Amino acid sequence: MIDLKQQEIWFVTGSQHLYGPKTLQQVAVNSKEIATAIGASAAMPATVVFKGVMKTPDEITDLCQAASADRKCVGLIFWCHTFSPAKMWIRGFGLLTKPFVHLHTQYGRDIPWGEIDMDYMNLNQAAHGDREFGFICTRMRKQRKVVVGHWKETAVQEDLGVWARAACAWADAQGGRVVRFGDNMREVAVTEGDKVEAQMKLGYAINGYGVGDLVACINAVSDADVAATMKEYEARFQIVSSANRDKIKVQARYEVGMRAFLKDKGAMAFTTTFEDLHGLLQLPGLAVQRLMAEGYGFGAEGDWKTAALVRATKVMSAGLKGGTSFMEDYTYHMDPAGQRVLGAHMLEVCPTIAETDKPVRLETHPLGIGGKDDPARLVFNTPSGPAINASLIDMGNRFRMIVNAVDVVKPAHALPKLPVAQALWIPQPNLAVGAGAWIYAGGAHHTAFSQAVDARHIEDYCSMANIEFVLIDKDTKLREFKNELRWNEVAYK
Ligand code: MN
Repeated sequence: MIDLKQQEIWFVTGSQHLYGPKTLQQVAVNSKEIATAIGASAAMPATVVFKGVMKTPDEITDLCQAASADRKCVGLIFWCHTFSPAKMWIRGFGLLTKPFVHLHTQYGRDIPWGEIDMDYMNLNQAAHGDREFGFICTRMRKQRKVVVGHWKETAVQEDLGVWARAACAWADAQGGRVVRFGDNMREVAVTEGDKVEAQMKLGYAINGYGVGDLVACINAVSDADVAATMKEYEARFQIVSSANRDKIKVQARYEVGMRAFLKDKGAMAFTTTFEDLHGLLQLPGLAVQRLMAEGYGFGAEGDWKTAALVRATKVMSAGLKGGTSFMEDYTYHMDPAGQRVLGAHMLEVCPTIAETDKPVRLETHPLGIGGKDDPARLVFNTPSGPAINASLIDMGNRFRMIVNAVDVVKPAHALPKLPVAQALWIPQPNLAVGAGAWIYAGGAHHTAFSQAVDARHIEDYCSMANIEFVLIDKDTKLREFKNELRWNEVAYK
């Protein structure tokens, strides 16, 4: 569903006319070679397009205007091969609305000690050219990422790839739509927030729809579509013997109906709430899991911030190994010998994070909340390895993103009676500091959980949005973290 190669990253080189046509021709040839190499690197998810060498203020202005207007262009890579007097960039930067990365590299990697002359110096002067460029970015308070190193280095190409993934998610969010079926769970605070501010700051619109409209859409689903979906379930999942087929069929109908509704609204993400299911027999469980696996963002109990964040994380992770899901910190294992968090939800965990070497089970069980019929759901474990939990909260005067790096581990025991999908993890640096820092920061119980992207992707995304980002990882010390929160209160005043 998500194909990032459709998106373009424009590669632009800064220079000026001072060098003469011969040198500039060489600059263009070198630039093209670098742009091609970055575009061809395995780490780059989008298509890199070389847009030429900028030599005048007018060229720069035209380029920045074109990039801002072009729907395919999700961001730009700038590099000053030679010196590009930076006042030339002021007008263009005033008009540029797309994120950019400043690649601080040099065409030649090593100084040719025995051969070096002024011609070589002219063609390898990013060391000072990029400093002039960096000054004007900083002077104009432009948000950007700076990547330093030789362009052939894997680490440099990976940094650019991470940033490009964030840029794709950022572009996806601009004009994106979050559909809410019902409001948020009554009296819950953290799932609230300023929707107008979110649209201004993050680009997506959040709108509510009557559950009755969704029910009408679900009732219009044909029996043939339900039968085809049931067939797919049978082929893909292990339907346990106690599972009630009629109840699974209800979810199949929900899946088709919800997909049609979301397509009609052009939605990228959606929310449900068990407190508003008027006309629905079950809480959508399996249906939500399937739509999430297809690429939709999701938040339970009306949590639109997490829904949009799950979607952004899914866009960032397109084509990478590992899945992304809506998640909730559910239960602790507090044995000092090995403290863990069991993550799960009532139903809605995305099967993209399921272990691939075991069948995903399709089961029906009663739901102890909401007073509705037993919903069908997919049940599975999550493979071991690094992951992140990310949470976006509304601080009243700003949005704050909180990321905790975690390590998913195998449960030491089977969980035969657990009727939902689960992931078990150790928060970095440990439960005491990880959960303590999370709670000081005001992180939600709902998160976007991903085994495909890491904190860098979310950090780059936050930089594009110009919102607060705090990270809890192996280096976190509680006292320093509390100070960071305290200082951010001033920084974002
Ligand atoms: Mn919840």
